[in-house]
Amino acid sequence: MGECIFCKIVDGSIPAQRVYEDANMIAFKDINPKADTHILAIPRKHIDRLDAVIETDKALVADIMSTLPAVAKTQGLTDFRVIINNGAEAGQEVFHLHIHVLGGGKLPGF
Ligand code: 5GP
Ligand code: ZN
Repeated sequence: MGECIFCKIVDGSIPAQRVYEDANMIAFKDINPKADTHILAIPRKHIDRLDAVIETDKALVADIMSTLPAVAKTQGLTDFRVIINNGAEAGQEVFHLHIHVLGGGKLPGF
């Protein structure tokens, strides 16, 4: 996935402000935050989008999801919102699966 910007963040060839990392994932600050705190959590493995998750990825995705409270905590957040955009029509711009973690202050309802 030579052209994938998030793979380049994983391998360090593009810098990012990392806030958390482990064997499965990294989490870093969104370059264009939509809330006071806006973190992106991504698998180290390239997966295009949520509906490209296959059987053998399920444990990985479950591990990432269950790690998000710890990721939020690195930012002092206990309350936060999680969003995944699946596909261009839903607003997905980067086709490497990522989970938006938003918080800090009261978020607008939607
Ligand atoms: P999407 O719209 O695909 O769900 O979200 C992509 C997110 O990635 C956007 O919120 C955008 O600001 C963020 N983003 C795009 N390029 C970069 C980058 O090079 N570095 C970081 N830290 N965030 C990025
Ligand atoms: Zn990628």
